[in-house]
Amino acid sequence: MPHLDGLRVIRSKIHGYGLVALRSFKKGEILVYADGVLWGEDDDFDDTYALVYSDDDDKEEYPNRYLDLTDQTRWINHACSPNAEVDTDINPDTGLPHAWWIATRNIKKGEELTYDYAFSGHLAEPCNCKDKVCIGLIVDPHDIDDVPKKLKPLIKKNRIKARIAAM
Ligand SMILES: [Zn+2]
Repeated sequence: MPHLDGLRVIRSKIHGYGLVALRSFKKGEILVYADGVLWGEDDDFDDTYALVYSDDDDKEEYPNRYLDLTDQTRWINHACSPNAEVDTDINPDTGLPHAWWIATRNIKKGEELTYDYAFSGHLAEPCNCKDKVCIGLIVDPHDIDDVPKKLKPLIKKNRIKARIAAM
């Protein structure tokens, strides 16, 4: 696996491993590009580290695809008030799908990179990000009604409005 410039895998305070900034990054800066393998919704694959793949050019031809991250970016954690966002596309140089993360605010040296996983309600998982707007689950807050019954007690309902407003 190639070295990631300015980033390093660490033991995360949020969950498991994380990716931390070794230098400061400015808002709008591209933090890292990632390789991945593309899968269809009906394929039998391990989706633990897969992103929803969307490419504006061929969305209609391939509606539901996932990019399984094959490098250190698979360790970037979710946070409810993240400092980065991800996008996906075909890499024009290689013709292969890739992903990249952009800083949504200035990131200090030593800060862990995070983005909003925005899981569908039925895929929600408990969240440990500890952000002030943490709603208790890793889920798209617009999709809260579809959260499985057993996870509903974890939802911090009074924070949903603020969380949506901050998106
Ligand atoms: Zn959270």
